Amino acid sequence: MMYEKPLPIVDQESRPYWDALKQHRLLIKSCRGCGQRHFYPRELCPHCHSDELDWIEAAGEGVIYSYTVARRPAGPAFKADAPYVVAIITLAEGPRMMSNIITDQVDAVRIGQRVKLLFEDVTDEITLPKFQLA
Ligand SMILES: [Zn+2]
Repeated sequence: MMYEKPLPIVDQESRPYWDALKQHRLLIKSCRGCGQRHFYPRELCPHCHSDELDWIEAAGEGVIYSYTVARRPAGPAFKADAPYVVAIITLAEGPRMMSNIITDQVDAVRIGQRVKLLFEDVTDEITLPKFQLA
């Protein structure tokens, strides 16, 4: 079955991130300059502008910082998913990332709930990081 939702554009900067996701590992950037981590991955630390950055593997655990339930799909390709949860998750390592909470019970989702990572292999090239209630 063909995947019809929009796909990310993989470039030189984001290639390690997407390659790791294919292996079911979530990478974030950690700064040697200030010690902070960030997401999405960038060439320069958004906290101190250092370019001394390392990739580290996230544990895949987090807490829902905020969310919304999309009852009207973002486009025809998302119609079968509605209602679905779009959330901002605070990772255990500190950074926040936007993703989906995969659940059949969208009305049971709450801010502060613990979530864990799962991987959605959507094409041969792209795996997306999603979350489920822990
Ligand atoms: Zn920094």
